[in-house]
Amino acid sequence: MHPETLAARFHEVFGAHATFLARAPGRVNLIGEHTDYNEGFVLPMAIEREVRLVGRPREDDWVRLYSLNFEEHAAFQLSGLHASDVPSWADYCKGVAWAMQEAGHTLRGFEAVIHGDIPIGSGLSSSAALELAMVMAFQASTPALQLAPSSAASLAHRAESGFVGVRCGIMDQMIAALGVKGHALFIDCRTLAHETVPLPEGVAVVIIDTGAPRSLASSAYNERRAECESAAALLGVPALRDLTTEEFEAQRAVLPPLLTQRAEHVVRENARVLEAVEAMRAGDVQRLGALMTASHESLRDLFEVSSPALDAAVAIALSTPGVYGARMTGAGFGGCAIALVDEAQVSMLATRIQFEYPRRTGLTPKVFVSNANEGASWEKLTPPNTAPTHRAIAAHHPSVEPPLCAERGEAILREIPDAESPRWWWCRDKHGRRGRVHEHFFEEEDYRFVLRDDFCAQELPLVEGERVRLLEAYDGWALVENAHGERGWVPARVLVSLTSEG
Ligand code: ADP
Ligand code: MG
Repeated sequence: MHPETLAARFHEVFGAHATFLARAPGRVNLIGEHTDYNEGFVLPMAIEREVRLVGRPREDDWVRLYSLNFEEHAAFQLSGLHASDVPSWADYCKGVAWAMQEAGHTLRGFEAVIHGDIPIGSGLSSSAALELAMVMAFQASTPALQLAPSSAASLAHRAESGFVGVRCGIMDQMIAALGVKGHALFIDCRTLAHETVPLPEGVAVVIIDTGAPRSLASSAYNERRAECESAAALLGVPALRDLTTEEFEAQRAVLPPLLTQRAEHVVRENARVLEAVEAMRAGDVQRLGALMTASHESLRDLFEVSSPALDAAVAIALSTPGVYGARMTGAGFGGCAIALVDEAQVSMLATRIQFEYPRRTGLTPKVFVSNANEGASWEKLTPPNTAPTHRAIAAHHPSVEPPLCAERGEAILREIPDAESPRWWWCRDKHGRRGRVHEHFFEEEDYRFVLRDDFCAQELPLVEGERVRLLEAYDGWALVENAHGERGWVPARVLVSLTSEG
């Protein structure tokens, strides 16, 4: 949700103007799965989906929150924090306050609305994004509190593992804190040493949310962790990370068959991550893609954490021209798959997934493309311009790309971001027609994008000198109303002499 819209929602809920925006991204892991708890290597990338908090500091030690995703309030005092009996989203927020205070930071309360466009519980780490956005919100509210991104990551991880009680590695929090635009982050999970690695040019990462529940995920996760620990113990190393492929091959007879499979995945996956880093640095997308696909096969056949839905998404991707590689990402048993694809073939892939995947699985996928985003941050919000209305006078009206001709509430396929204007997307309607839609008008419903009720697709023809009322403006485009009450879009640059009207 756009910060302006969030600020308006904050005003509705808390009756005041918001003064800060705190945000943190979700992530995908390009390669290096189930290696983190084996003290090995991972290569995640922050995505453009984020959790955002818009709010203002309070004078007391209360934190008051409203999650727009859950349509639910939560409030807690900074002293005497304890988790709820029934786990809830507020526990992630309380956990952050608890971890920060435990580390010796004195905090001030705040109130905020929360909104995330990361699918929740799909393995894109909305939980780490929420935690990091909370750390940022405390920094925005507490004067002189400044944390290094890696400290913010540790505190967020402490919140999830020590307070909420989820057994998880620190990868999600590291990437949500330390992401860099255009780069993935290579992390050594033993030392937490990390390095940015540029994404090769001309390729896109397409994320396919399988829409399949991850019901087996947590029990299988604990089982796999235990299996890896047993394998390491039998092989006489502190963690599987300590073995090279050659060392493992020399000793594999020591292990029973099941543990051999598990250990082989981890040892070879670590080697693949190191090779993937080299391939990225060399701009070798073919190699990078092949490594991703090999990772998937290993997770499916040796580590046995894939699922029919994930395998279907990967198979469809791999049979699409321009796709270099594809794999499941995250712990497995549902969640998301990713594909590395030639930029020019993104729509082809998205369209094929949208049509093929439901046929094969009976599930509805959600497909989106993401560039590598930057890690958590916060900024001050300027108070809104309170002038009641504006008048704008049209200068001239050059021809423009048409907005999408679709109906309000219609399901659309969101394809690729418009390279020319941020936050505009090329989309297709149900007839396959293509056009641009501003992200303000998207709503997600049952894993589809639908157009909001106030969606307006018209382009408004104007004559030079005509007076129009400016309703909203987004990134170079303005939604205006003419004297007859007709609404439509015009490029903002055709509007001259914006004046306040009393
Ligand atoms: P994942 O991290 O893969 O999305 P998790 O189960 O680890 O899935 O975390 C999801 C949880 O994070 C949600 O159940 C909720 O408690 C919390 N959460 C994520 N996004 C939001 C949000 N926008 N508002 C409130 N809570 C959120
Ligand atoms: Mg999570």
